[in-house]
Amino acid sequence: MKIFISSDMEGTAGVVDWDQCRPGRHDYEYYRDLLQAEVNAAIEGALEAGGGEHEFLVNDSHGRMANLRPAQLAGGASYLSGRHKPMYMMQGLDSSFDAVFFVSYHGSMTGAPATLSHTYNPAAIAEVRLGGRVAGESGINSLVATGLGVPVVLVTGDQTTAAELEAFWPEAKQAVVKRSVSRFAAESLHPDRACALIRAAARDAVSSLARVGGGRPPSRGLGAHVEMSVRMRNPDLAEMATWLERVEPDEQDPTVVHLADTDRIRLYRTFVTLVMLTRGIAE
Ligand SMILES: [Zn+2]
Repeated sequence: MKIFISSDMEGTAGVVDWDQCRPGRHDYEYYRDLLQAEVNAAIEGALEAGGGEHEFLVNDSHGRMANLRPAQLAGGASYLSGRHKPMYMMQGLDSSFDAVFFVSYHGSMTGAPATLSHTYNPAAIAEVRLGGRVAGESGINSLVATGLGVPVVLVTGDQTTAAELEAFWPEAKQAVVKRSVSRFAAESLHPDRACALIRAAARDAVSSLARVGGGRPPSRGLGAHVEMSVRMRNPDLAEMATWLERVEPDEQDPTVVHLADTDRIRLYRTFVTLVMLTRGIAE
């Protein structure tokens, strides 16, 4: 089995502050070790499920996207790191993979309570909806997974992150390693317990996948024609977003734009380009 892991950092048990997940800040080295342990717990859980050889690709999707120590990755995992990836948090996934894990994910900008909540860029994007339903990064990134026919089978993070993915992938296993209290507070499991929970959820996810014979359950709420609406933080940002093809202004709300496409991968790429384009005036 080939497993693709997209790893963020805000969803790690214990992490509640931007300084804990920004390189150079005094706490970062400690918290990156906790993240590494959670990523490894997901890999080890998948290995425990058995079912033959497993191959892993970890796509580092947080900040400058180089938070893990390659030699310390479990399972002989390959590591995709570094910035400026056209497929961003889903770079490296192709249809040869059997499953996707979202590790250390966080809630959407409007999700509450959700520690360190944001949707790609908190300075530019206020809310994203897919088919009318609020989507965090997990929902948006699911466009790529469903576009390639690879199921998302595991998510780890807080309770809001788990609920947001459930709207799109009700069958996915969840490891809720912390309970967000507010945007900057959470009650976290002890890191050892968090890792044990992730290991068990990953094992379950991979064994149930093996039981259905590698079947590809369809994700809910992402029909053939996908409608994405993005509420920007202000009308200037929304106007800039409409410079892109297939991005249309809302008729009533000057802060909202609509993206619609029958090709989910292209829709995701349009969204990523919107994120990169609006970064110029949002920061
Ligand atoms: Zn992040």
